[in-house]
Amino acid sequence: MTTPEVGSRVPSADTLLTGTTSPGAVGAPFDAEAVRHDFPVLHRPVNGHPLVWLDNGATTQKPRQVIEALGAYYGVANSNIHRGAHTMAREATALFEESRTAVAAFLGAPSPEEIVFTRGTTEAINLVAQSWGRDNLGPGDEILVPVLEHHSNIVPWQLIAKERGARVVPVPLLADGTIDQDAYADLLSYRTQLVAVSHASNVLGTVPPLREMIALAHRYSATVLVDGAQAVAHFPVDVQELDADFYVFSGHKLFAPTGIGALYGKPELLAGMRPWQGGGNMIESVDFGETTYAPVPHRFEAGTGHIAGVVGLLSALKWLGALDRDAVVAYETALMDYAQQALSAVPGLELLGSAPERIAVLTFTLAGVDPSTVAEWLDRDGIAIRAGHHCAQPALRHFGLESAARASFALYNTPEEVDTLVSSLSRLRQQAG
Ligand code: PLP
Repeated sequence: MTTPEVGSRVPSADTLLTGTTSPGAVGAPFDAEAVRHDFPVLHRPVNGHPLVWLDNGATTQKPRQVIEALGAYYGVANSNIHRGAHTMAREATALFEESRTAVAAFLGAPSPEEIVFTRGTTEAINLVAQSWGRDNLGPGDEILVPVLEHHSNIVPWQLIAKERGARVVPVPLLADGTIDQDAYADLLSYRTQLVAVSHASNVLGTVPPLREMIALAHRYSATVLVDGAQAVAHFPVDVQELDADFYVFSGHKLFAPTGIGALYGKPELLAGMRPWQGGGNMIESVDFGETTYAPVPHRFEAGTGHIAGVVGLLSALKWLGALDRDAVVAYETALMDYAQQALSAVPGLELLGSAPERIAVLTFTLAGVDPSTVAEWLDRDGIAIRAGHHCAQPALRHFGLESAARASFALYNTPEEVDTLVSSLSRLRQQAG
């Protein structure tokens, strides 16, 4: 990585975020091999083998453009934002706000003022639960949460429900891992204040019919929060088309740094929400008599945020924006079909869930082998997958399991890597007898 010399250039987004044109620009066919050149870590060996990174559901790897943007930011542009009167503060603030504009465009939000930066999905959900939830949930109210949700889209609702005397109501799954839409329709009522649902499941890959689910919830005047943590890296999102009330995601699952994410909220909802955390940046005026708060979104951004992370997120969005995302979707779908078929041929391997709409996440068990043993075996071959409950215990228990193995794919994975995975699993199976 080359860090620019101090003073070598004025740090606007155009100069700081260099090299954001990736192979496979819009209109060109998607070329995973070319994209792999952008990811230095994919070229390191692990345990004497080329790395096969199939733990993208946990976090994605970062393109060099993002890595270099972080170095460049600290090299020539580091300053706190919003409060300084000097050139560096103004430049850093401009970058920060440019990232907010880019996130709004990325989500199809009408205005950057509807975007709040958070540490990630978990913090964004907690923000909504603690701020919106405190004023909008009361005794007897219900929060509908599908059984397949990540713990971070269950526990914050349990916490606020307990405090407010409301109830978290699980929406059951069908055998294929889809949300039972009949049960969902039956459970919705005027008691339903909120539906919290993921745009793509981290354990089953399920992509629910969100537009229909949101429209149905709105008939009962319920608010809908969509957890986009797993969705955003896989397909384009449009919060207006979905008519989502809140939409949240994490940068680190989107080729951006850890510790940065965003909350989208409809302006009328954000405007009515009380501050969550208090501190600098989020106030208009502080007095021991009365303190007044900054308008949204700054009202929800107390303290010094992860400014470099915000710049890294901007870089990741520019990098992703240079790709033809429809071509990426087609590539990942073909890759998942290939992986699904290849894995099904491994004796004793059982895949969990078979939703018709899904992202490239394949969770499985191997007869007679503990999932953690599967992960350790694959690691010896340089293959990184995840084993455990995947922070989705209710979803796994739906299949009678406490633990499973998961291979989760990103746009830089290849059919050859699927072959390596399948070959290693077949050898393990043979050895297990
Ligand atoms: N929601 C889903 C569907 C996830 O997969 C994850 C992380 O795995 C989260 C929420 C939590 O994301 P984070 O830990 O980045 O806040």
